[in-house]
Amino acid sequence: MSAGGVMRWRVVLELAGADGTRQVHEVGAGERPPAGHTAATLGLGLEEGKAILAAVQRHLVAVQIDEHCSSRRRCNRCGAQRPLKDLRRRGLTSLFGVVEVRAPRFGPCRCGVASRRTITPVAEIMPDRCTPEYERVVAAMGAALPYHRALTLLGEFFPLGGTPLRSKQRGSGPCGSAPGSSARRWHHRKRLLRRLRRARSRWASTPAT
Ligand SMILES: [Zn+2]
Repeated sequence: MSAGGVMRWRVVLELAGADGTRQVHEVGAGERPPAGHTAATLGLGLEEGKAILAAVQRHLVAVQIDEHCSSRRRCNRCGAQRPLKDLRRRGLTSLFGVVEVRAPRFGPCRCGVASRRTITPVAEIMPDRCTPEYERVVAAMGAALPYHRALTLLGEFFPLGGTPLRSKQRGSGPCGSAPGSSARRWHHRKRLLRRLRRARSRWASTPAT
């Protein structure tokens, strides 16, 4: 694309759900002057790359979580929808950002035949609220560096920071810029650090291969 002597680009993510639904999201956009290139202006910069990764991650996770929740909402005995009890939010910490997801709780089905429990489908698939990959990479880095250094260094290359709670609308530019951390997120980060510190001591006592 070009307009007014400026080269413009945008990255669009197309998601096809298992139920046939299709979503299209803009995950990155930018512009470059048409001339006067230098090595520094060629291609993507680190921050642009991180913002795109964070936006892709946010949309992918949201779709997967929604699919899991709707499949769990269906009663496996009568096929009816379990009633919605409430809707909360949970954060998933991953190498590609902290993704805020909708976490509905469903009450027992009215048929009374299936399980009488209230279920939280999101808690079933992300009980630790972080991906094993994130935990593994931070533990590996943390074995060689003090934790905050490890996280800072990882943050140089990965969009670890928080992502906006709500998706930006189309046309509002690249997503994934890091807003201030909420107290809850900070508390979660501290809890995670404690657990990862234990992982580090295990890691450090394992001979390198
Ligand atoms: Zn039922």
